[in-house]
Order: sequence, then C-alpha cells, then structure tokens
Amino acid sequence: MTNKYEEIDELTLRLKAPFNDVYQLAMDEIISNGGKIKTDDFHSGYLEGAWRYGLNFGGLRVAIHIRKTAEDDIELHVEGGFKNSIDTFGSGKKKAVELIGKLKNSIDKQFNKFENIPKKEQLLEKQKKIHTKLISCNTCGGTFSALADNCVKCGEPNNWIHPNIEKLIKLKDKLPFPNPVVFEWSRYEISGETINELPIWYKIFRFLLGGVVLLVLSKIVSIWLAIILLIPVILLLLPIERLLEGKKEHFIANLENGHWETSNERMFADSRKILDI
Ligand SMILES: [Zn+2]
Repeated sequence: MTNKYEEIDELTLRLKAPFNDVYQLAMDEIISNGGKIKTDDFHSGYLEGAWRYGLNFGGLRVAIHIRKTAEDDIELHVEGGFKNSIDTFGSGKKKAVELIGKLKNSIDKQFNKFENIPKKEQLLEKQKKIHTKLISCNTCGGTFSALADNCVKCGEPNNWIHPNIEKLIKLKDKLPFPNPVVFEWSRYEISGETINELPIWYKIFRFLLGGVVLLVLSKIVSIWLAIILLIPVILLLLPIERLLEGKKEHFIANLENGHWETSNERMFADSRKILDI
C-alpha cells in the first residue's frame, strides 16, 4: 500500500485531504492516546494536547499545527515540549514522534479514498508540456512554440491559449456563479472577478445630483466652466462608489506553474476543476 502522505521531515507531513477531516483526526488521535485537549483552535489550525509526565500533571505538551499550503495540500506539523519547564531529556520530542507515527497510521486508514499527492515531478511534467508544445501557424504553416508571441517564420501573432483555459472560457456562462464574473486571460493564466453592480438608487442619485449641480453652476458661470467644475464633485463620489461595490471575489490560476489563488474557494471550485489544477 502506498502512503497517503508525504514526509517533509520527521515531524511534518503533507497530504491531500479536507482540512476539517485532518483536524478532527488529529484531535481524535490526542484523545485516544490518553491526552487532554488544552487548546482547540480550529480557525488557526492549532491543537494542543497535554499528558502527565511523572509528577508533572499535564506538563507534557504536544502541539499540532495544521495549515493549507499554497498548493492546497494540508501540512501537519507536530511539536513536543513541556509547559513551564525545559525538555531536558527530549521526552517532549519523543512524545511528538510517537504521536506522528500514530497519525501516519490513521491517515493511511482513513484517507485511502483520496488520490495520491501530485508530486513536484508531475507538476514539472505539466510545465514541460506547455513549454515544449509546438503549434503550426495558420498563415504560413510553420511550426513554433506555443508560448512564442509570434510565428518565427512569418511573424503572425500567436493566438494559442491553453486548451483548459479555452474550455473554461466556453463554459463560463453556464457555470453556476451566484454573481456575474468578468474574466481575463493570457496563454496560460486566467483570472476572474465578480462584478458588484452599484445599486440602482445610487445611480439615480448620481444622475440627479450631476444634473442639479450642472444646472446651478451654469446659471452662475458658463456651461463649459460648469462641466469642468463638476469633475471634483464626481471625484468626491468615488469613495462612496467603492464602498457600495463592496468586496469582490476573485481567482487567479496559472496553468504553467500550477498556481491557484482565490478569495472564495466554493464559488470558483468549478473553474478550478475545468482548469485541472
Ligand atoms: Zn507563420
């Protein structure tokens, strides 16, 4: 059986699994190994278990840090030590090593339904595919790199984009986004941002205000001067518009280096699936 985790070092594991499942598993592991939960901070992925050590009740501590990496894996790091004293005999570390051993077993048992971690080599393989992909020119039939800006033979601009991006662009209007999204893309990078429309009452207000200010000013000065004087009024409204537009959701995906970043994973999960990163 292959392991469902990757060992970063003696006390650190990496795996592909849902964050809350890993968190729950780590908590169960502390309890089933006779530890008492001292800190339970789901939000920052921090768990601390306490054990009795000789006469030192609850002095032996093991902390488990769980975080999501940039590659969207889960990294689990275990740290052992003592509360209010120094780990002279390395017992804290020993406890941490013991616990991570148990965690490895549990991970292998519980997460067998998950795919193996995409290794760095696989990612490199994907990058290489983009870099070495050759396409033929529509104008002269010459061959050149998919990433080149122009055809090397005739100089025709290259309009190749990654097939997964092409697929997403075609499907984007059919995806169940709760808000409209605008997309921008290059050959292997695509981003999307939600459009937060200004409320209609504000648009009417802005229109009327502009009209009134223009009318009043044009009575005092000439119409052209009035239009110029209206500019500062519009500029003053900009911060209000920003506020009304609110926070936008976005994602950026780079198919060359496998980078994925989003402010709303749930909203853009479909995009990610199509992009295959
Ligand atoms: Zn050409």
